[in-house]
Amino acid sequence: MTDLHRLSIRELSEGLKTAQFSSRELTEHYLKRIAQIDPKVKSYVTVTAEQALAEANAADAALKAGNAHALTGIPLAHKDIFCTQGIKTTAGSKMLDNFISPYDATVVAKAKAAGLVTLGKVNMDEFAMGSTSENSYVGATSNPWALDHVPGGSSGGSAAAVAADLAPIATGTDTGGSIRQPASFCGLTGLKPTYGRVSRFGMIAYASSLDQGGPMARSAEDCAYLMNVIAGHDAKDSTSINKDVDDYVANLNGTAVKGLRIGIPKQYFNVAGLDADVKARVEESLKKLEEMGAILVEIDLNMTEAYVPTYYLIAPAEASSNLSRFDGVRYGYRCENPVDLMDLYKRSRSEGFGAEVQRRILIGTYALSAGYYDAYYVKAQKVRRLIQQDFLKAFENVDVIAAPSAPTTAYKIGANLSPTEMYLGDIYTLAVNLAGLPAINAPVGFDKDSLPVGLQLIGNYWSESQLLSIVHQYQQNTDWHTKRAAIAEENA
Ligand code: GLN
Repeated sequence: MTDLHRLSIRELSEGLKTAQFSSRELTEHYLKRIAQIDPKVKSYVTVTAEQALAEANAADAALKAGNAHALTGIPLAHKDIFCTQGIKTTAGSKMLDNFISPYDATVVAKAKAAGLVTLGKVNMDEFAMGSTSENSYVGATSNPWALDHVPGGSSGGSAAAVAADLAPIATGTDTGGSIRQPASFCGLTGLKPTYGRVSRFGMIAYASSLDQGGPMARSAEDCAYLMNVIAGHDAKDSTSINKDVDDYVANLNGTAVKGLRIGIPKQYFNVAGLDADVKARVEESLKKLEEMGAILVEIDLNMTEAYVPTYYLIAPAEASSNLSRFDGVRYGYRCENPVDLMDLYKRSRSEGFGAEVQRRILIGTYALSAGYYDAYYVKAQKVRRLIQQDFLKAFENVDVIAAPSAPTTAYKIGANLSPTEMYLGDIYTLAVNLAGLPAINAPVGFDKDSLPVGLQLIGNYWSESQLLSIVHQYQQNTDWHTKRAAIAEENA
């Protein structure tokens, strides 16, 4: 079969169960595509061919023996921020260029236990800081829809791999938009779960109170399948929440939209820098949802202007603390011939970290310093609470909130936006993490340059099933999620 990469997760699962093809064939098919097509996309930083084939053989044995899970034998790619035992985990940083984790992240362990086959690790902005995936020490990944454009970030490798059909599904992480924005830039569906739903154990920390892992895929249904594997309480992560997990696939239904009250924040659609095509496509998608039975309700989110400054204080503060462990002593990069301990620290960190990471460590350290802690960090935490309250108030009158995922479509590689311009591009995604809420991106069309546009739906706590169902129903009534980039049409 030459078109195995066209099949959805449900079709792959059925095909494997009924022995229409084996996991070995499917895995070889993807490895062949990666070898031939990925040199143009550069989504993978490590391809684990040998291990993948061994896992595929084991999956085939489980399928034959009749003790397979729903996803047994299906390949996936992991963002290079998830620790993988025996396989390099770099988090996009020279600092971890030689790091081989002695254990698996819980997300990776759960994927393995479910019989998923790991194709490899995919590129990302260094320590998940960025919106383009250009901040990776190995260099930029391309957007499959236009190779001279970025795939978004920080989970740009995950998005590019799925959009080019180099993996059927991928894991990503979202601290301030890094699942939703690259999903938007690459025409995919991506879910950022409620904080605490997916274990952070073994997921290299950027900003611990914001980081959350989640699925990136072609459709809400595909995301639901991966959520069924990765969601759940983990005793190894004290921020993971002990609450029953939904069956996200069984819960998908065709009735989520009728009578659904969708909040449209006035402030969001008047943001300077909101591209006209993005606005038009998002409004068209809302019109479609209205035709399907949703009720659009104008709402106020008065804290919108505070999102960017609040996030860009809290995230760097937590990052400066988390990244202090990379000191050249215990593990990670160490400079050559240090003259004394101070020289070792300074040069290891200056040479091991890229410019954006260093910028954030400086900002965060400053904000946490004794003289400024109250004025910056404590104040930002107070504003964070107001932002959360703003959402909770809105959810008294609406079921979900609609927004673009990003104000623009994908930037050109090397566009060299200033840090502030880049940070402003995160306006629609940051508040969701500050409040710990779940949100989903769904593809809803293209701009004048044929680059994908995404709609974001923000839900109340634990509404993952609802968000997936809404997008699932939208996708049953539209075909944006079935569109393929030209490069994905290439056969290996
Ligand atoms: N672009 C945001 C940042 O650079 C969000 C990144 C993320 O979600 N990991 O911090």
